[in-house]
Amino acid sequence: MKIIRNVAEMQKQSMELKRAGKTIGFTPTMGYLHEGHASLMEQARVESDIVVASIFVNPLQFGANEDFDQYPRDEARDIQLAKEKGVDYLFIPAVSDMYPNPTGIQMLPNQRIAVLCDRSRPGHFQGVLVVLSKLFHLVQPDYAYFGMKDAQQLAIVDLLIKDLNFPIQLRMVPTVREEDGLAKSSRNVNLTSQERAEAPHLYQALQLAETKIVDGEKNPVNIVDEVKQYIKTYTSALIDYVEILSFPNLTAVDWIDQDVIIALAVQYQHVRLIDNIIVNKAGERVHALR
Ligand code: AMP
Repeated sequence: MKIIRNVAEMQKQSMELKRAGKTIGFTPTMGYLHEGHASLMEQARVESDIVVASIFVNPLQFGANEDFDQYPRDEARDIQLAKEKGVDYLFIPAVSDMYPNPTGIQMLPNQRIAVLCDRSRPGHFQGVLVVLSKLFHLVQPDYAYFGMKDAQQLAIVDLLIKDLNFPIQLRMVPTVREEDGLAKSSRNVNLTSQERAEAPHLYQALQLAETKIVDGEKNPVNIVDEVKQYIKTYTSALIDYVEILSFPNLTAVDWIDQDVIIALAVQYQHVRLIDNIIVNKAGERVHALR
């Protein structure tokens, strides 16, 4: 595995690989890698000649009061894991190389926004769009792998790729969970022990919603109420949102007669956690972007 820290070198390398007719699979991450990231890399390994992973904690997507400084980092461990997963090129650019000047272009999505995380993290997805556009130009992937855990990000990347004609196929990778159901996240290490103990209830709340839909409940308002009640009963977390929306368009639904995402975000002392499931109108899990 080759480690590339320089932006110009990454782009030159990708252009050489493309000229040689290689397909590139790309897994962008913010590091502190876990089995969720590994699952993206594994899928990339199967589908592409060359696997590129990036580690970049993008300051542009963090709000002023968010956890940019506290975001966990462990480069040596990440390098080891990426190697084990068969990554060919690990791109670890410096902030000063990615953003030598303040960005002169803003990217504002018109759709799939003003819901879910955008409400409490204004500007977050603009930062995501800028960094991914840059990374896509530098790495030039044929396939890009994104986790379903960050479903709104995935929906917005889907829009970015289609709207701006990036020649990339987007792959949605199912959420990898701890044995007790908690979605794996780099941020989980910043939970207190009590918070960590109760956090599996978040996934149980989503499973409760799933059961309701399987049993014939079609009214999203009733389900959202029950999920909120469950979270309040079994956790000390502050609910940011519980929402049921169409997927991937993320529009409001007043009746569950299509694919929907049931998504939640909660705030703990030092950590904000998100999780979701996507189901069809019968309550069966949906694992692919349609
Ligand atoms: P992050 O490092 O948190 O920015 O995540 C990098 C990529 O890994 C994103 O596409 C995430 O959606 C994905 N990812 C994060 N956690 C998980 C998980 N538990 N299961 C699957 N993918 C994940």
